[in-house]
Amino acid sequence: MRDLTSLDGETKVVGVIGWPVRHSLSPAMHNAAFAEMGLNWVYVPFEVTTERLGEAVGGVRGLQLQGLNVTVPHKEGVARLVDELDEAAAALGAVNTVHNVGGLLRGYNTDGPGFLRSLAEAGETAEGRAVAILGAGGSARAVACAVAGQGAGRLALVNRTVSRAEEVAALVQRRFDLAVLTCGLDSAQAQGAVREADLVVDCTPTGMHPHSEDPPVVPAAWLREGQCVVDLVYTPRETSLLRAARAAGARVVEGVGMLVHQGAIALEQWTGRPAPVATMREALLAALARREAAAG
Ligand code: NAP
Repeated sequence: MRDLTSLDGETKVVGVIGWPVRHSLSPAMHNAAFAEMGLNWVYVPFEVTTERLGEAVGGVRGLQLQGLNVTVPHKEGVARLVDELDEAAAALGAVNTVHNVGGLLRGYNTDGPGFLRSLAEAGETAEGRAVAILGAGGSARAVACAVAGQGAGRLALVNRTVSRAEEVAALVQRRFDLAVLTCGLDSAQAQGAVREADLVVDCTPTGMHPHSEDPPVVPAAWLREGQCVVDLVYTPRETSLLRAARAAGARVVEGVGMLVHQGAIALEQWTGRPAPVATMREALLAALARREAAAG
């Protein structure tokens, strides 16, 4: 961790806005990266209410912050407030990274690319694969567009509320030529889709701390050897779904990978330099461990 007495008039500032944001792991991850890169930059969490979002985004220009990460509940609001959107952010209507380029605010969505990088790091790909996504919220949208863009062979969207899965299917099919099955979480179709999938991605919060002993979002018996199972939940790192997947002989990818890589892509946008991914992961895991120890 850098010595804060070394902050000076040259220090460049980035941060994360959300509500709440005080438990964010991003400051630990990005400040460790800046130290490793020898950059006079600092990353600060800002808790921002929805009522003050416009002022906060205006403040990025006014205070000449280099950029921001954006988390719940402001991803959609910020998409309406920035000057330009990249293709993913425009399609999703959600921004998780803002880059201030000389007063022009560019909005990006690095969730999908971060997910694909975490897959690649694990030696996995969505290309040509049958993919089943569980959930139909913000992260499911980003992952669905990312796997479609990478050339997934088939896509099943499985969600508790089927109409939300249908909305995500429509979003995907506006951009990509891909057959998409939608079905309810408890349906026979869901069982078939998960069983047949090469890649299963859990985009629901099921099993997240403090509910880590809850059963997986789909029955363990639906999982099988030879498939890859990803859980976006990263507290705990090994969720009940990943435990069940391992026991079934599936390969697993932890949600920590996506968190690190979406942050790394944001840092690369801001600094124009490659991110020290190993340092970011180490700092993130250390912060997670501290948080788990504090929670007892
Ligand atoms: P979201 O927009 O609130 O969507 C949540 C989805 O999960 C909805 O489709 C919801 O179904 C479903 N769901 C919620 N509770 C459920 C339950 N008990 N059983 C079955 N389905 C349930 O959330 P999100 O932003 O997509 O985030 C989802 C999870 O991914 C969170 O845990 C978040 O922390 C994690 N995440 C991780 C990363 C990472 O970098 N690793 C990035 C983004 C998100 P309905 O539509 O029926 O309500």
